[in-house]
Amino acid sequence: MPLDSPTEMDCTRNPVEIAERVWWVGHVQADDPFQCHVYLIEQGEQSVLIDPGSRLTFRHTLRKIESIIPFSFIRYFICHHQDPDITGALPVIDEIVSRDDAVLVTHWRAQTLIKHYAPKLPFWLVDEHDWELRLDDRVLSFVFTPYAHFPGAFCTFDHRSGVLFSSDLFGGFTEEFSLFARDERYFEAMRPFHEHYMPSRDILAYAIARIEEYPVRIIAPQHGSIIPANLTGFMINELKNLDCGIYLMARESSDIQRLVKLNQALRDITQTMVVSRDFQGIATNLLAIVQRLLPVHSLEFYARMEDGTLLHLAPETRYRGVVVAAPPFVVELIDKTRQEWASTQRRAYHYHVQSEAAGQTTAAILLPLFPPDGDTIQALAVIHLQTEIPASSDIDQLIEQATLPLQVAVEREVIYRTLDMERQRFYEHSIRDPLTGLFTRFYMLDMVQRLFNIHDRDPNALVAVAIMDIDHFKDINDTFGHNQGDIVLQQVAGVMLENVRSGDLPVRLGGEEFALFVIGQSLDNMGLLAERIRSQVAALSFAAPMAGRKITLSAGLALRRQQENLTDFIQRADMALYAAKRAGRDRQRVAS
Ligand code: GH3
Ligand code: MG
Ligand code: MG
Repeated sequence: MPLDSPTEMDCTRNPVEIAERVWWVGHVQADDPFQCHVYLIEQGEQSVLIDPGSRLTFRHTLRKIESIIPFSFIRYFICHHQDPDITGALPVIDEIVSRDDAVLVTHWRAQTLIKHYAPKLPFWLVDEHDWELRLDDRVLSFVFTPYAHFPGAFCTFDHRSGVLFSSDLFGGFTEEFSLFARDERYFEAMRPFHEHYMPSRDILAYAIARIEEYPVRIIAPQHGSIIPANLTGFMINELKNLDCGIYLMARESSDIQRLVKLNQALRDITQTMVVSRDFQGIATNLLAIVQRLLPVHSLEFYARMEDGTLLHLAPETRYRGVVVAAPPFVVELIDKTRQEWASTQRRAYHYHVQSEAAGQTTAAILLPLFPPDGDTIQALAVIHLQTEIPASSDIDQLIEQATLPLQVAVEREVIYRTLDMERQRFYEHSIRDPLTGLFTRFYMLDMVQRLFNIHDRDPNALVAVAIMDIDHFKDINDTFGHNQGDIVLQQVAGVMLENVRSGDLPVRLGGEEFALFVIGQSLDNMGLLAERIRSQVAALSFAAPMAGRKITLSAGLALRRQQENLTDFIQRADMALYAAKRAGRDRQRVAS
């Protein structure tokens, strides 16, 4: 097979031998998504021309035929059905056929229409000849394959070459001409062709079952690309499993390109839901898909969680849900019943949404999402538009198609987020002291061990600690009460938190005693930090009844020795703290 010609266009100027003595003699027309193919079986004076084609291209076909055989060698003119792109050239052929035994091979049902050309050529009906044509050294079998637009269509199988001349079956819409299908993607060109022309899956399945009775090697359709042997099995199988017939319902089905795009989008939406595992993936893909059809600016979601809070998923947060206050249009719609939504009499699109930042209104498509077993709006998808768009059944279809999978995706995300937040709350409780917000002793034991392990391997990964204790705290409790004591604890903890960095570990050891672990700092730097905290605590001022009361703390500092355990380390710091207390409080001391 001369598949490796320098360019496909070059090779289509000449006939192309697609199998031994089987020639493509069609003509490539510019801007024709259908590309009608004509084939010639070279068989001496019994040669066969298959689907002669249109008047528009026949002179090119004739030139190609005559570069192989004299036109008069053709005895059989097969017309797989009656469409003008197959039979349009018949009147021309009728003029130039000179032999008496030439015949027009077709099905009786096609004859009823083709006869209106009033051809001189006599008909030779496949159904009257046992669906077979026996030539000198090859047999052609005819396969009955009715299509949506014509009940009398058939295909031709050449036993000698294994080529199936399939007419509309296996045809495709190709944007760029390619005589041979290059890979599995050709099926995407075939798909719309069959979705639109096949009335039902049953009819298609019938045709494919008939075809599978033959050892088909190459498929030569009348439109699209020729399917080479390595792709034949794949294409037959895919076609066998194709859903078809449903899109014929669309009123505007004459605009094939538009429908092709829409169908592609609908399919992609479903595909996205199947392959994307996280919400961000789904949202990003969905945006790209709807952008192909509509002037979409961005996509965001609001979902109500079980505890009543509202989750917002938007590109800014990479579609990670964050809890937000509900914007007015969401408040208005969330929890509405299906009936209430219907009675708002709003189309799903052209909803004007107030943009929070700019304070301006923009057009948007709003998709209310109902849980599968519920009757109230649980979530909203907001498709922001760049410009307003006219209502159309395409958009309705797109919205309908996107709604259920989106609902599933949003619900899944709400469950994840709920779990996440609960886990987060639980975690925070166990590691944070509820009164002061400092880490608990329990958490410290775990974390400090990790710091120690690093320090034991790397002497430069210094660990310093300051144990801090509020001076005469008992006196505060005794004088002002326990509640005031709590406030003091919170204020002092607040000072500590303001002065630490994210890697530091401020801990409430218990009572009014704190520990601050700092990594990678010298004892001098630890001293500066402790001094800053000490002086800021000393500068705290309190409301009545503690107005004017000064609070101070004392600190004991230590730098960890490699291999030193926590008890020993803290004990050294404690000794330094004790020294600070004895020296008059409101100061720090460093352990030896
Ligand atoms: P010193 O300057 O020597 O540290 O004197 P102090 O009074 O601070 O020392 P002491 O350890 O004797 O007193 C600590 C007091 O802290 C005793 C206890 O009642 C009180 N305390 C412990 N936990 C809490 C708490 O969570 N809230 C309040 N308000 N007081 C607490
Ligand atoms: Mg104290
Ligand atoms: Mg104490």
